[in-house]
Amino acid sequence: MTDVVMQGLSKSFGSNTVLKALDLRVPSRQFVTLLGPSGCGKTTLLRLIAGLEKATAGEIRFGDRRVDTLPPGDRNIAMVFQSYALYPTMDVARNIGYGLEVRRTPKAEKQEKVGAVAKVLEILHLLGRKPKQLSGGQRQRVALGRAMVRRPDIFLMDEPLSNLDAKLRAAMRGELRRFHLDLGTTTVYVTHDQLEAMTMSDLVVVMNEGVVQQIGTPEDVYGKPANLFVAGFIGTPPMNLIPAQLRNGVLTVAGTPLPIPIPPGAPTELVVGVRPQDVAIVEAGSPGAIPGKVWIVELIGSERLIEVELAPKLRVIAEVRATHRAAIDDVVAIRPDPAHLHVFDPATGQAIS
Ligand code: ATP
Repeated sequence: MTDVVMQGLSKSFGSNTVLKALDLRVPSRQFVTLLGPSGCGKTTLLRLIAGLEKATAGEIRFGDRRVDTLPPGDRNIAMVFQSYALYPTMDVARNIGYGLEVRRTPKAEKQEKVGAVAKVLEILHLLGRKPKQLSGGQRQRVALGRAMVRRPDIFLMDEPLSNLDAKLRAAMRGELRRFHLDLGTTTVYVTHDQLEAMTMSDLVVVMNEGVVQQIGTPEDVYGKPANLFVAGFIGTPPMNLIPAQLRNGVLTVAGTPLPIPIPPGAPTELVVGVRPQDVAIVEAGSPGAIPGKVWIVELIGSERLIEVELAPKLRVIAEVRATHRAAIDDVVAIRPDPAHLHVFDPATGQAIS
């Protein structure tokens, strides 16, 4: 059982503070993804857990054991990187077993462990090959095997799929998820790809500028974004974030009242968030709908994106069936699904309902 606990963790490089007093608990046996834009500090956090960087302040514990004072070799972690640097002259079996060889594991035991891992990864038939005789996906599986064979307490993975093509990446997402379910090893996974985060994780940690924005299940961070950053970052196309006003207790967008209860004490200037998938295009004049004019129409496979201008510079995207007929400059109206509206305070960025 190995929880990974970070408390008040800060890291600066010179005057650049990359992580700001971060508190985070990765529960034992879970697959937890650090998700955020480039430069937000994900890799730095992973390197701190691995012991490849030293924290400026704060502590890291694995279970009850404080580890930030220990060298990387004493932490019993295995790391898989984006570039998986296999030894080119060694065959697959030796690449996988090299860590055991260095630890002077008896030959029979080593062979057994390499075989077991290769079986799980379905690369038994490749054990005699050299890395250059493998495809990208096979090489990545060898890199995973090298990490798995040591039976670490914790896997740390830094964008391990980013060098693969789209099809292989999709297949490997499923495989990684399966390995995790089979092995139950606590895993911290870094990515900026929200699809990877959403499909593989038990918990997603959304980060921005060295600060944790929200920790939750994939359903939570998608369905209940805690603030404007998370709302705008998760989801494709991004959530519409529309300025709204509170008038006599009623929320209005471009002059049209929306049926959402607002808690007392809310500011009068607000932002309403609604995902394009939750916006319907209806006939102009439909009761309760917000009037507008079609600005642009884009076909994206089985769906169509219709961008509707409600007022100058105020546009909302609706994702509708591709069969929906709408043309540029059509006069229409939009109806956001009242069950899927999010309201934010623009001053603090926090969700208020
Ligand atoms: P990406 O998705 O692009 O890999 P990231 O979220 O993993 O981004 P980090 O690699 O952790 O981000 O980098 C965070 C910030 O820390 C960046 O501004 C980066 O320039 C800086 N940084 C990282 N390592 C060092 C270092 N060794 N020396 C100085 N600055 C560094």
